[in-house]
Amino acid sequence: MAEFDLVVRGGLVITPAGRRQADVGIRGEQIAAVAPELRGRRTLDASGCYVIPGGVDQHVHLQMHLGGLTSSDSFASGTQAAALGGTTTVIDFVHTAPGASMLAALAARRAEADPTVAVDYALHMEIPTWHAAARERLHELPAVAAAGCATFKLYQAYPEVILDDPSLLRALQAVAQVGGFAVLHAEVGPVIDLLRAAALEAGRTAPIEHERTRPPALEATAVQRAAALAQLAGCPLLIFHVGNAPTVAAIAALRAAGVQLWGESCPQYLVLNSEQHLGGADGNLYICAPPLRPVAHQTALWQALAAGDLQVVSTDHCPWTRAEKAQSAFAQIPGGVPSIEARLALVHHFGVNAGHLSLERWVELCCANPAQLMRLEQKGRLEVGCDADVVVFDPATERTISQAPGRRTLHEAADWTPYEGMHVRGWTRDVLLRGTPIVLDGAFCGAAGAGRFIARRTAGGGAAVSRASGQAGGFSTFPSDAQGDLRRIV
Ligand code: MN
Repeated sequence: MAEFDLVVRGGLVITPAGRRQADVGIRGEQIAAVAPELRGRRTLDASGCYVIPGGVDQHVHLQMHLGGLTSSDSFASGTQAAALGGTTTVIDFVHTAPGASMLAALAARRAEADPTVAVDYALHMEIPTWHAAARERLHELPAVAAAGCATFKLYQAYPEVILDDPSLLRALQAVAQVGGFAVLHAEVGPVIDLLRAAALEAGRTAPIEHERTRPPALEATAVQRAAALAQLAGCPLLIFHVGNAPTVAAIAALRAAGVQLWGESCPQYLVLNSEQHLGGADGNLYICAPPLRPVAHQTALWQALAAGDLQVVSTDHCPWTRAEKAQSAFAQIPGGVPSIEARLALVHHFGVNAGHLSLERWVELCCANPAQLMRLEQKGRLEVGCDADVVVFDPATERTISQAPGRRTLHEAADWTPYEGMHVRGWTRDVLLRGTPIVLDGAFCGAAGAGRFIARRTAGGGAAVSRASGQAGGFSTFPSDAQGDLRRIV
């Protein structure tokens, strides 16, 4: 009988395909067997617990520089909090200043992250505005892809980064050309800017105006426009942070029509709402974009996650302190909320415990799908040969989420949490990163710098085929093997 370095023993192994009692045998950094009755030199007892792949959070903003501020969680504190919540891979962003080199920006971002990350990480490359200059910088994309950035962040909003439609099409074509994958902030930014200015001029400055000046229809429309351009370009596209019913409907309709489009939601849209939180006494804290919505939208989100119209739950973790959020008008408040540590527990409690999702779908949404879509080939699966990123999740643990002094149960750096006082059942107990324990019994035992940058491969990088090939449905430039892969996600 082969002996393993470590065996996670006696748990209920949950994958998108099903659940079964099995042990996970680990050799070195990889999973070597998933079967009953394995023996190892060391054993981690998981009886009574779920054994799931390490969580993948494809959308985080750690030590993000914005104006004169930097988001509260550093790569060190944010990845430690992620680990404690059962997330073993995060994807952050590279922002390139106007006129600067994307490759140089990538190197600078890695220099910030590499020495301090406690979990593995990858980076999305933002393709900035520079309407004219974008053409000059897009020539860098093959080198950026070769350096491990397989995914590219595009914006339809924010004056500093917005791509108008011609620029968006050029960017999507360039991403397709290198076999990359586009992720998108979809809102009709210029119209929102107009509505915001009008509200401020009329003296409507309360946090709830943040939601009123960003109508859901402007997200749904942006998605439809971007999807049409992505089809022309032959570029696969994922819509970030979907939080309202019209946008869900737009994505579902496009997918039903055969467009290769995916959608992500986040815990804040599933658990929080605009009436109670944005409209409450601390409304300034809850400003994020797109905004929280009336609670009625949540039904559509849960249904879409269960049915496959949305495929991923990640966090868009972007924390600011209470002091940084304390601005007099909604338009001055830095946007973003923290969720990196509680993601798995929140989706488990409000999704699985509440009856919206199966355990299998929970694992698919939080681990398997983001790994597959974002081309983290070794992540998100409990299969032989994959990285031994393993989470032991105790479904019986009860916890009240809090950042209040004396009652803190989170390890995020911001001095508040949007989930303050929420009681959940089920929490991460132990976490392995490539076979090494980094959380045991709810205590962090990893190390800053133990995480690695994951260079992701693009889908072949073949030259783009002209859309004049006449194939209805587009995406003819996407290599067929990768396409087959992605279609496994429904
Ligand atoms: Mn974001």
